Amino acid sequence: MSNLINEACVKSHQAWVGYRETTYKQRENLLVAIAREIEALGDVLIQTAMEETNLPQARLTGERGRTCNQLRAYGKHITDGYWANACIDTAIPDRQPLPKVDIRKVNQPIGPIVVFGASNFPFAYSTAGGDTASALAAGCTVLLKAHPAHLETSRLVASAITKALVSEGLSEDIFIHIEETDFSAGKALVQHPNVKGVGFTGSFGGGMALIKYAQERAEPIPVFSEMGSINPVLILHENYDESLEQKINQLAGAITLGVGQFCTNHGLIFGLKGPVLDKAAHQLGTAISKVGIIGKMLHPGIAKSYVQNYQTALDQNGVEVVARSVEADEPGIGLIAKTSSATFAENKKLHQEIFGPYSLIVECDDLEDLLAVYEHLEGQLTSSIFIEPERHDVQKLAVAKMIHKSGRVIINGVPTGVEVCHSMVHGGPFPSTTDGRFTSVGQDSILRWVRPVCYQSFPDEVLPVALQNDNPLNIARLVNGVWSTAAI
Ligand code: NAP
Repeated sequence: MSNLINEACVKSHQAWVGYRETTYKQRENLLVAIAREIEALGDVLIQTAMEETNLPQARLTGERGRTCNQLRAYGKHITDGYWANACIDTAIPDRQPLPKVDIRKVNQPIGPIVVFGASNFPFAYSTAGGDTASALAAGCTVLLKAHPAHLETSRLVASAITKALVSEGLSEDIFIHIEETDFSAGKALVQHPNVKGVGFTGSFGGGMALIKYAQERAEPIPVFSEMGSINPVLILHENYDESLEQKINQLAGAITLGVGQFCTNHGLIFGLKGPVLDKAAHQLGTAISKVGIIGKMLHPGIAKSYVQNYQTALDQNGVEVVARSVEADEPGIGLIAKTSSATFAENKKLHQEIFGPYSLIVECDDLEDLLAVYEHLEGQLTSSIFIEPERHDVQKLAVAKMIHKSGRVIINGVPTGVEVCHSMVHGGPFPSTTDGRFTSVGQDSILRWVRPVCYQSFPDEVLPVALQNDNPLNIARLVNGVWSTAAI
């Protein structure tokens, strides 16, 4: 292990010993200060990210806004206190046959967290992105492994975080920026004994490698890898009408948005063989053909993989091209292909994510066939249905299958543009993530970095503030089984 990694992990632990004692308000103030410092970086940040990622200005400006709002929202959530899951069961000294003691519980931070920046979201899932924001909110320190594809952008954001730490009077080691760019650095970080959790967004190979490193440790730790998904959409309209045409145009936008480099990109479209699906495929093809070269991809590695992966898919028996946005095999072209349900069911190569603006239409014989093929899919971040709003019976039938495969199920909409809110689930059964019980977007992402601690028979003064009788934080607590903000 390099000295740098070891030193960083030692410092991060030392900083955690102080940071874990901060009040919820201090943590909120830190997150708000980070947002302010990121905004203060101004155009330089956007220009740098544009040069490094090939993403357009409007997209990056929007993503910066989302990132800063996310920091503020997680800060507010910490002082609201729901995440702490404070529970109080008061003593019943005269209970028969045995007295009941006073027992209380509250969530506490688990320790230093390693966060791997994602290439496709230089702000929202990188240096000060969701994993960092949620870990800092929870009271954990962060070791950020910068993504090499946007190192300068990452440095700028890291400088904003450091400024915020200084302005809030906190240790600069609460956030440490790691710039080493080879796999041995990632491995050493995950395997360092001071590290207590890992957050990752990226490839299946990368996410699984981190799990393997963690399993080799003497002490197991949670690894939350978000590894992507093909996000099936089921076209179940009985009629091709204006509303379906609008949804197909929305689908074309979702497939090509950001050159298809989203984990919520639709890579798979199921429909019932017949005129409705034929018209939908034609409309989708027309929309894609008009797009041309959509844009440069994030980095040469992703561009190369995209071309290789779609060529492999198109080489499979029984797969035909419906439309392509340009004739040449260029990185960043939009592509729609088609196959039958029988071919799809037999050939697992067609089930793999193709990271880019590619989608495969699967023609099914009937609804039973479609749902049977759907059941062969692996775990997904999302699944969607396009259907007439009043056909509730079919919706229920499909949803009953979809909730067991997906973290988020959508009726008549697309999954891109993941909202940051309390109800969001950005997660799903394996292999979309390594732990489908948690979300990496939304306030509940904080729950990945805490564990419950039980306090039995404590004097009030010695309890954590969240559990004290007077409820000084004025948070909601489950008191003897009833939610309440009242003092005891
Ligand atoms: P990646 O290859 O998974 O790399 C992401 C980060 O993980 C990098 O910092 C990389 O380290 C580290 N890493 C990867 N494999 C590792 C290993 N075996 N040991 C230690 N560290 C490892 O992702 P990417 O570069 O962003 O893109 C490559 C592919 O990932 C894409 O083509 C796409 O298929 C997929 N992807 C998926 C998502 C998603 O939303 N799920 C997002 C982005 C990319 P280094 O810095 O040392 O290289």
